[in-house]
Amino acid sequence: MAEEMKAAENAAGNFIEDFIREDIAEGGQYEGKTVHTRFPPEPNGYLHIGHAKAICVDFGMAEKFGGMCNLRMDDTNPTKEDVEYVDAIKEDIAWLGFHWDDRFFFASEYFEQMYEYAVELIRKGLAYVCELTPEQMKENRGDLFRPAVSPYRDRPIEESLDLFRRMKNGEFEDGKMTLRAKIDLSSGNFNMRDPVIYRINRLHHHRTGDQWCIYPMYDFAHPLEDALEGITHSLCTLEFEDHRPLYNWVIQNTSVPSIPRQIEFARLGINNTVMSKRKLRLLVEEKYVDGWDDPRMPTLCGLRRRGYTPASIRNFCERIGVAKTNSVVEYSFLEHCLREDLNLNAQRVMTVINPIKLVITNYPEGQSENFTIENNPNRPEDGTRTITFSRECFIEAEDFLEEKIKGYNRLYPGNEVRLKSAYIVKCTGCKKDENGQVVEVYAEYDPATRGGDTPDGRKVRGTIHWVDAENYVEAEVRLYENLFTDPEPDTGDKNFLDYINPNSLKVMTGCKAERFVGEVHGDHPSYQFMRLGYFCPDKDSTKDHLIFNRSVSLKDGFKRQANSK
Ligand code: ATP
Ligand code: MG
Repeated sequence: MAEEMKAAENAAGNFIEDFIREDIAEGGQYEGKTVHTRFPPEPNGYLHIGHAKAICVDFGMAEKFGGMCNLRMDDTNPTKEDVEYVDAIKEDIAWLGFHWDDRFFFASEYFEQMYEYAVELIRKGLAYVCELTPEQMKENRGDLFRPAVSPYRDRPIEESLDLFRRMKNGEFEDGKMTLRAKIDLSSGNFNMRDPVIYRINRLHHHRTGDQWCIYPMYDFAHPLEDALEGITHSLCTLEFEDHRPLYNWVIQNTSVPSIPRQIEFARLGINNTVMSKRKLRLLVEEKYVDGWDDPRMPTLCGLRRRGYTPASIRNFCERIGVAKTNSVVEYSFLEHCLREDLNLNAQRVMTVINPIKLVITNYPEGQSENFTIENNPNRPEDGTRTITFSRECFIEAEDFLEEKIKGYNRLYPGNEVRLKSAYIVKCTGCKKDENGQVVEVYAEYDPATRGGDTPDGRKVRGTIHWVDAENYVEAEVRLYENLFTDPEPDTGDKNFLDYINPNSLKVMTGCKAERFVGEVHGDHPSYQFMRLGYFCPDKDSTKDHLIFNRSVSLKDGFKRQANSK
């Protein structure tokens, strides 16, 4: 089996695909049937990048086989469900580019049918009402050498039928009784030791209100939901592998209209973040972050606000593949996938986030000239734009040093650099304030280098970005780091809240951007701010107060900048 699995994993495509292909082939259990999958989120939080993987697998497999994928809110557990989450989940899936058409369901729509299937089990002698308290049940669950025990197991069918009906009618208090499947008290798989399939729980449900005071357990409800919807392949994560025998038992022993097959695949884990909704909710509720869509969150709405594109996320999910063993993927791989997409598609602009003024002392005062530059060298079809150049511009404070250090090719007295797409300038010095702080940098330009070329072929190693001080817009720029300082903030007995990175958000105000950035704001979701990374307007950005989030930095920071041409 292990060998078989490995071979399947290594084959082109993946093992799920192979299973499905076998199933629908001649002689397979679904010969001639349309492949039908489902994505079943529990609406108790926002979707995260781990869910994106499941979505890509569920919807992706259906797409691949020309089938269908249902969207089903798994709302059988009424504790923390909320309409807000339902809407957000739909929005996120649609944003990723997947469609469920009219196949949108709530598991709670099947409560009545589930109840009937439970009655069917009792009638067949395959379920009974048990009066052990949760503590007693725990004490009586046995171990590898001792079977579990329930004194109620052989209760007459009629009695269980009557009690179960009365459980439903609210005659007993919460926790007083359960309905248990009668399977095998000595099974090596503890999920099969007469699992509880219904419990009494007086909780208000977001859709069914107070109509029910008994609720089905996940392991009983899920196979029924799948079967009722005609799902052929119920794809889920590995932790359900040990539950598959119970899944199949429910399907085999109830008169459901179809037979779904459960296939498990590995959960996605990513380092430097936490992924469980419970933990993400804590970050929101305790105000460590600014809501579920904080750009530092691994939620889909957070990634979207950060500037992630649907294509980058789908591509990431595609490339990490599906496997049978859990593993942790590097966060940097997710960033890599985004960078690839934005490198192709983002508009290039110049923005200075830590500005200092550069005065070109030999450039006539009051003069200005235009340069035409390509919006995106990778997409000539995106056209060109005009930027202006005059005697004063802003440059990054880091692009000037009073004294050269090894490997530094930017501005220092006596050195020449290229002002990107404009001219080559030679640094002549600077002015400092009374504290010794550099407040202005001086340079002279070479009129023969218009466009940044050196007609005599002399070598100019550094190229820096700049923004015309006569023609710019102010912007706020938000720079992000990992939310956690530890790559595995929630492993072992670590408390992830102890590893919050205090520098995960850095707000830069008074940044200077090409006017272009302000004008087309909204039409182009992402920009490359040259040398700084990829940025997108934040949802709170307005025409009068531009705010940009750094989605991802460019690669190899310093090295690349210092040597760039
Ligand atoms: P969480 O612990 O984050 O709340 P969950 O599994 O309880 O996750 P559900 O809403 O029940 O969340 O999940 C819906 C579907 O998404 C399930 O099929 C589940 O297996 C899948 N899923 C959840 N997290 C991941 C993950 N990290 N990687 C892959 N699939 C996931
Ligand atoms: Mg869950």
